[in-house]
Amino acid sequence: MLEVTNIDVFYGNIQALRRVSLHVNQGEIVALIGANGAGKSTLMKAMVGLLPKKSGSICLDGHPITPLPCSEIIRLGVAVVPEGRRLFAPLSVLDNLNLGAFLRITNGFKKEVQEDLKTMFQIFPRLEERKHQSAGTLSGGEQQMLAIARALMERPKVLLMDEPSIGLAPLIVKEIFEIIRRLKEEGNTFLLIEQNARMALKVSDRGYMMELGRIVLEDSSEALLKEESVQKSYLGA
Ligand code: ATP
Repeated sequence: MLEVTNIDVFYGNIQALRRVSLHVNQGEIVALIGANGAGKSTLMKAMVGLLPKKSGSICLDGHPITPLPCSEIIRLGVAVVPEGRRLFAPLSVLDNLNLGAFLRITNGFKKEVQEDLKTMFQIFPRLEERKHQSAGTLSGGEQQMLAIARALMERPKVLLMDEPSIGLAPLIVKEIFEIIRRLKEEGNTFLLIEQNARMALKVSDRGYMMELGRIVLEDSSEALLKEESVQKSYLGA
């Protein structure tokens, strides 16, 4: 579904990504774990065309998306749930969801979008209760739910999620990861970027560990949870 091959990214003279390769198969949750500054967000930005790449390629469904602008990559089916949610705070929950489906509405799929809104409210009943409330007044957990639902309103082929657990209480984190697991069962595909390695590896099928701009480990999530270096660095063993 999504294949990244040998990506290098520089900020000025500083190399933030070094020959990074990874792939996400259809219907998988793939976790990308790593400490602060490892390069996880940089990789996500590079994937959606927000950073110039020095070399390497990124393909979606076998087609290169590397040279395309961000707007085109999103149109082709890559959705982003960014770190810090980035909602339209003064707008209502409903408006945020409709903005997620903006391209589909303008392309004449208004009826399908209405159906998808009903589905979102089934998955996230709290959003329906608060549909006329402005997004900026939601709790952190509700905002994360809205950010996920807004991305799903694009009907993406793959969702890139940057630190969905950040700043949330443990019980809410559990709830968010349970929702991600259910969404996978319904056929959604995720690349999950997380510092909360334990939760990310518990919910995902495979994982990659990143250090100083490089992928240093790649395996099934089950195997990574047992891996000594992962346990030492991320699981407090
Ligand atoms: P975190 O989990 O803290 O967000 P991360 O793994 O996502 O960390 P990145 O934000 O991708 O890491 O940063 C990777 C490296 O690139 C860091 O050394 C960071 O200082 C550097 N970097 C990120 N953005 C820029 C920028 N706009 N200009 C210069 N350097 C940057």
